[in-house]
Amino acid sequence: MPKLPDPLIAELAAVVGAAHVQTDDAFTACYVSDWRRNFPGAARAVVRPGSTAEVSRVVAACAARGVPVVPQGGNTGLVGGSTPDASRREVVLSLDRMTAVRRVDPLDNSMTLEAGCTVLAAQEAAAEAGRLFPLSLASEGSATVGGVVSTNAGGEQVLCYGNTRDLTLGVEVVLADGRVLDALGALRKDNTGYDLKQLFIGGEGTLGIVTAATFKLYAQPRKVVTAWAAVRDPQAAVELLARLGGAVGERVTAFELIGRQALAQVLAHGTPGMRDPLAGDYAWAVLFDVSEASALMDPSPAVEDVLASAMEQGLVLDAVLAASGQHAHDLWALREHVPEAQRLDGPSIKHDISVAVSRIPEFITEAGAALEALVPGLRVVCFGHVGDGNLHYNQSKPVGMPDAEFRAREEAIHDTVHAITARMQGSISAEHGIGRLKQAAFLHYKQPLALELMARIKQAIDPANTFNPGRLLPHTLPAPRPSL
Ligand SMILES: Cc1cc2nc3c(=O)[nH]c(=O)nc-3n(C[C@H](O)[C@H](O)[C@H](O)COP(=O)(O)OP(=O)(O)OC[C@H]3O[C@@H](n4cnc5c(N)ncnc54)[C@H](O)[C@@H]3O)c2cc1C
Repeated sequence: MPKLPDPLIAELAAVVGAAHVQTDDAFTACYVSDWRRNFPGAARAVVRPGSTAEVSRVVAACAARGVPVVPQGGNTGLVGGSTPDASRREVVLSLDRMTAVRRVDPLDNSMTLEAGCTVLAAQEAAAEAGRLFPLSLASEGSATVGGVVSTNAGGEQVLCYGNTRDLTLGVEVVLADGRVLDALGALRKDNTGYDLKQLFIGGEGTLGIVTAATFKLYAQPRKVVTAWAAVRDPQAAVELLARLGGAVGERVTAFELIGRQALAQVLAHGTPGMRDPLAGDYAWAVLFDVSEASALMDPSPAVEDVLASAMEQGLVLDAVLAASGQHAHDLWALREHVPEAQRLDGPSIKHDISVAVSRIPEFITEAGAALEALVPGLRVVCFGHVGDGNLHYNQSKPVGMPDAEFRAREEAIHDTVHAITARMQGSISAEHGIGRLKQAAFLHYKQPLALELMARIKQAIDPANTFNPGRLLPHTLPAPRPSL
């Protein structure tokens, strides 16, 4: 029997044009499955509006028919937040046609971009105006303004410039009834009531569709000293960061820990020419940048002093300073290739936990021992942002273990890592968010009152649960308690 035409599709086509409403599997394939292929789904349609007005009309049409909407940017999210649930006939609303740079203002030190702009395009727009947009993450070629705002993305320069929340001055958002909240102002100070933009930053697309954002800009560094140092252990990494901070203050713009297993996977699955920057055997390395905006200052002597005394005291085993921009780029390529290398290595389990910076060594020791006892031979791929207390504490299956057996242990591995994190008053998600992947742990560890308030906010702003139902908060929202 021929399929009946879907009246919603015709309605959406009238808004955005038939070419931008797709139901064909060949076209929608890259929109319905995530980067790690952990959340394959199917959509009622993929809709690609070209303006805020079109987003508003698309949302209103879906909401009127009770059809859930899944906002999507670059689809690089790692927790199943941006892909559709096959059983619910959701509409994927992709922002990938909305890529305009609306304004770059070097006097205000701010810029306003549409949601589909990639982070890389945002960095380039700032650089053209002689400014720095400091958000930097390995997915920056695909991750978008709407996505980084909605996940409050972090990345490699948070310890100096803050995460996306710290960088965001304003947002434009389409609400579930199609109305547009214009909170795009570039003001640094505004005390007129609740700061509503904060609800949408890190909201994981559950409260509205971000159609544009205004970000802070900074001075471009004129001199960057990049170093790769083998360190004695994670404790030495934490101490080295403190010493660098003592010597050059906030000029430490990135400080990443890289465990041996992470580097080994990069060298095994990386691009030709990638090689270990140092000779000899070492278990832990750090990669850091010290940046200086003034042409009159050179941080190199201070960095060299810190490294020399750390070597004398056995904290640093060996180190290399980048001799050129290309050399620095090559060192950073090793770090940025870790997620892709782990994906190529086979099935893996990801955690993006945070603890107090000083407790990183204790976390690594305790979690490592607990996991080895749970799954002997498990390969821990540990890397991340020491200055933020944020580790990508991932696991690859033991060599020779069948995939199914590894998958069967997944929940126990998550539970072990999350329980240790919670015991150390840490967070089960410092970067990637909750989505569908971490919902059970989120509901388990989050304070009940915090969950209740989140559910009330969701009910107030999106009462019909149109946006991203079942992500972050469960499908059925807990009933608010009358006592509040
Ligand atoms: C190789 C790699 C490295 C990564 N490194 C980091 C890292 O260092 N730090 C970090 O924080 N993350 C990192 N991530 C995760 C990911 O890149 C970020 O979460 C990023 O912010 C997602 O952006 P996106 O445009 O791809 O969003 P998507 O994946 O499309 O969506 C992510 C979430 O935001 C929602 N959303 C997307 N656009 C909108 C919108 N316009 N309005 C409302 N909701 C929206 C989606 O519904 C979903 O819930 C990495 C991912 C990969 C693959």
